Parts: sequence; structure tokens; C-alpha cells
Amino acid sequence: MDLISRIGAPVEIRLDAGNGKGKGVFATKDIPEGETVFNEVPLVSLQHLDNKASAVVCSRCLRFVGTVETQIGHKLKCLVEKLKGTAEKGEAAAHEEGGAGEAAAGPADGDATRDAEGSDGVDLEEALEAGERLAQIYAEVSNERIAALCEGSELLPMSSDFSLPQPVPCRRGCGDMYCSVACEDEAWRHHHCLLCTASAPASEAAGPSTSYSGASGSGAQAAEEAVEEVLGVRVDRRALAAFAAHAAETNEIFLLAAQVVASTLLKASRLLSEGGGTASDAAAVCGALAAAWRPYVYGWKRCWWEAVAVPEDVEDEDEFRGQLRELAYDSLQLLSAGLADPRFGPEVLRLEVYGSIVGLFELNNLGVAVASPVEDYFLAVDEMEEGPDKEPVAKLTQPLLDALDAEYAASAEATAFLALQSCINHSCDPACTAACDTGDRTATVLAQRDIKAGEEITLSYIDVSLSYRERQAELRDYGFVCRCERCKAEATAPRKKAAPGGKGGMRVGKRR
Ligand SMILES: [Zn+2]
Ligand SMILES: [Zn+2]
Ligand SMILES: [Zn+2]
Repeated sequence: MDLISRIGAPVEIRLDAGNGKGKGVFATKDIPEGETVFNEVPLVSLQHLDNKASAVVCSRCLRFVGTVETQIGHKLKCLVEKLKGTAEKGEAAAHEEGGAGEAAAGPADGDATRDAEGSDGVDLEEALEAGERLAQIYAEVSNERIAALCEGSELLPMSSDFSLPQPVPCRRGCGDMYCSVACEDEAWRHHHCLLCTASAPASEAAGPSTSYSGASGSGAQAAEEAVEEVLGVRVDRRALAAFAAHAAETNEIFLLAAQVVASTLLKASRLLSEGGGTASDAAAVCGALAAAWRPYVYGWKRCWWEAVAVPEDVEDEDEFRGQLRELAYDSLQLLSAGLADPRFGPEVLRLEVYGSIVGLFELNNLGVAVASPVEDYFLAVDEMEEGPDKEPVAKLTQPLLDALDAEYAASAEATAFLALQSCINHSCDPACTAACDTGDRTATVLAQRDIKAGEEITLSYIDVSLSYRERQAELRDYGFVCRCERCKAEATAPRKKAAPGGKGGMRVGKRR
């Protein structure tokens, strides 16, 4: 397979890894402990939406951008906003409760408040905690200081030792940020020219490329700008914004699936024009699509709603799977309204294909975490020798650290698609570990022990320090029951002491 020669890995993919596991990756030579088995660059990646409050990173390579100060300011600003929201919702709910339930005003302390839930699902206790945490933050930093950090007008001592690239916004200004013009351009060409939710500026949209819009006149101006043609693909930016909003509300993995769809369409389109093929040449069209799709075939497992584990509290499995299918159907409808390619026809985006693309991410182990420079900064301050040099530094930084609390160390977290790594099977006693370096955007698979030629390369999809039961429960999410040697041994002797957890730059695991 061409992927392996490109990566230059001493491994091969076998279609049958035994034990009903399907395909797997095997060593083709002896690999000593500690050696790199291979390096790989992700094809697509996405920072978790709820992680955006903790880390401002490049949308493509996950490098932290800005400065230590702006990162800290951003964290505090988001933290305050979130806590305020929770506290206010709780207050509103308390008012509702107070009006309706005078009779229950007796034991205002214990269980009565714990059970009460506001209209937005905010637990009253949760709201009280948010209020307390907010007060704790404001005891350390003012809104003015948070604003000054965000704007970069407050400089912290030693922060220049942790310099980060300046953020480069998406050329259309959709809000996406990059670490460099090169990353912005790479993302734009790879998928973002089709998925950016910002409309073309009026000057650009005035060209003949807006001919898809039937309407004319000043009233239709906005609609004209929202629809454009990019490399033969009809793109409706407003429909794409609706798609993105739906994904943010339901399942962010749809956004990654859209990256796969967009990059495949763009690559197929380029292959078709390079090969001189036309849209009327069915064989050329099919060939271009198949070639463009090839890298993702490695991660191909099963359809998302068919393979995903049913949560324990769900009684009706068929209904549950039906709901997921429905969700994917809605998402696909929205995406299809945003992207249409007459050359490749509607069958490109059949529901089953879309479900399998979502399955690429839901059924593979592709979590990536990048350590934060903010954590490094506070550690460096902490490591300073006690004395007159440290005192003034600590005086400035300690309140920030106290306000941030555990948030100071929050890493950037993402899901990424790594073609070869996605073929590696899980073991609870894995031969390898994975680590990530954002510097050159590579994920590395390292031998954790000596590996013999012919031996299977394995990684743990989950935290290996968990008990047998806990591991099996976590692995259900990936749609399989683990029958590794360790599980076989522990299934019969379940009280055995758990092995210590592995530690690396990249935590391997699922996002939930
Ligand atoms: Zn970047
Ligand atoms: Zn954009
Ligand atoms: Zn196992």
C-alpha cells in the first residue's frame, strides 16, 4: 500500500489480524524498545468546541498562538462568562421556585435545593458553586486586568521566554485562526475554501462566479454573496453556517466529516482536471473520486449508528440507533444544501457513506492533546529560586494562578484523523504509545517494549490503569469487546492489580 512507503514505516497492514479484529498493523522487522515506529501527519483535525475556551490554537496544526498573556486573558474571560451564565440561570430558576413553591420553603438547605432544577437544566447547587467560584476569581483579578491581558496591554515578567506565533485570521474572517499564512493557505486549499462560513466580500462576489444566483437587484445582494462557485462546487455559505450550528449543537464530529467530504471533492476535482477528464466521462469521474477517497479508506470501519455502543440507560436499541441515523440525516441535508457538485452527482453524499465517514472518527482512537505554554510558564515561575528575584514575579502571577485554578494547565484537545494509526488495533497491554508534536504537526508511534518482526503493533485506546471492568465499559464506545492477553487473564482473575498508566505528550483516548 502506497501509504506505508510514503510514511517509510517498518510495518505492513494485514486485512485479517485474527481474533475477529479485522485489519491490523504488523512489524516487518525487529523494533527495539524506545524506537520510533513511524511518524504521521493528520489528514484532518478539529479542536473540540468546548476546548476553545481553554486554548487559542491554530485551526490546522493546533499550535498555541498569541502570547502567554492573551492565552491567560482568554481563559479567564471565558471562565467568567461561563460561570456568570450558570449563576444567572440558577438565580432565575430560584425565583421561579420561590414564586411557585412557598410551601416547600422549610428545609432550604439540604436535598430540596439539590434536587431542584432550573428551566435550563441548571442545578441550583451547581449555580451556587458557580457563584462562589466567580467570587473567588474576582478576589484575585478584576475585569479590567482580564481585559488588559486579552488586549496584550499587560505584560508579564519572563513571558518572552514563551513566545508564540502571532495569530493569522482566516482570509474571509469567519473567526478561524491559524499560526501562519502557510497554515491558513494549506487549510484553505485542503477544505476550508468549501467550508468557510463567511461570504465573499462584495468586490469578489461581483464576478461571473456568482452566476448560480438566479435573483438580481439590490434586495438579493446578500443571497448573491452567500452563493458562489469554487472549483466547480456550488457553495452556499449561509447553508454551511446552518450546518455548522447544527453540528455544534448535536455532534461536532459532523464538522470533521465535512472536512473529509470537502477535501475529497476538491482533490477529485483537481485530479479530474489534471487528467483532462470531463464531467461527462463517467469512468474518469469515478476514478478521480476513488483516488481522492483512498487515504480515508484506511480508517474505514462501520457505519456510525450501526456500530456505536448503546448507552446503558437506553432501553430501546432500535430506537436509539434510529435517532442517531436521523441526526446524521439532518446533518447531511444541511451539508448538501451548502455543498453541491453536479459532476460527482448526489450519490457521493449518500447517507450510508456519510455515516461511515462519521464512523471513521467515532470508532477509531484519534484523540490528541497538546500541552499548554501557559502551564510551562507557571511552572517556570514556580521553579525560580526563592528570594528577591522571585518575589515581584510571584506577586504578579500568583493571583492569576489562583484565579485560574486547575484551568492553568488545560491542554489543547482535538480529534485528528491519522490514516495508518487508525489501522492499529487496541490492546490493554500495548506494544506502543503515541505522542504528538505540534511543532511539525506529526504524531509519533513509539515502541514501548522490544517488538519482534511479525508481531502486531498495538496502542491502547483508553487509560490502561483502569480496571478490567472499566476498560471493557470504555471500549464499548468503540464497538468491540477486548480479548487481549491481559483481558483474558483478568477476566478470570478480575481483582488483579491494575498496571500503571502510561504518560506521553499526546493522550490517547476518546473525546467523551
Ligand atoms: Zn498552524
Ligand atoms: Zn474561514
Ligand atoms: Zn484488553
